[in-house]
Amino acid sequence: MKENPKDALLRVDMEAGRLIKDGFLGEDRRPVSDIISQDLDTLAGLQVSHVELGRAMRRLTRGGMDAIGEEADVGDYLVKMEEYMGWLGCPFKDGRRAAKRNTWVKDKASGKEMRWTDLTIHLIEAHAFFQGRGSAFRLEPEALAAFLKLPGAETTDFE
Ligand SMILES: [Zn+2]
Repeated sequence: MKENPKDALLRVDMEAGRLIKDGFLGEDRRPVSDIISQDLDTLAGLQVSHVELGRAMRRLTRGGMDAIGEEADVGDYLVKMEEYMGWLGCPFKDGRRAAKRNTWVKDKASGKEMRWTDLTIHLIEAHAFFQGRGSAFRLEPEALAAFLKLPGAETTDFE
């Protein structure tokens, strides 16, 4: 499928070294719009929306901010804010910027862990963009939904 010009420009900004050192795409060669539509298909199958996922992530990140430098107890999870290094602009050019900060989350029962940045939350919540395959910050929709225990998600099959 041919990329439209707007999508091609977006791709350039998401490549490594443009807005962030490692880029948003990993080794994914698909157009950004295809990455998004395939992840949306996955979510439709799970009956979870990207907005619900983003909100759940934001709740955990907020919970972690109550205990900077220590693990915060947030319901089923332990949350720790790992670092803060300024701000990042959204590659979709909507004027939004997000703190360059990592949230580490551990499910107390399963011991599973996930990490995300504030920009990752915004990209998922506002743009349904989970990043390209091979990107250090890509979160697989199935794994994320399972981790966050959102409706319709399998809770056993994903690492
Ligand atoms: Zn944005």
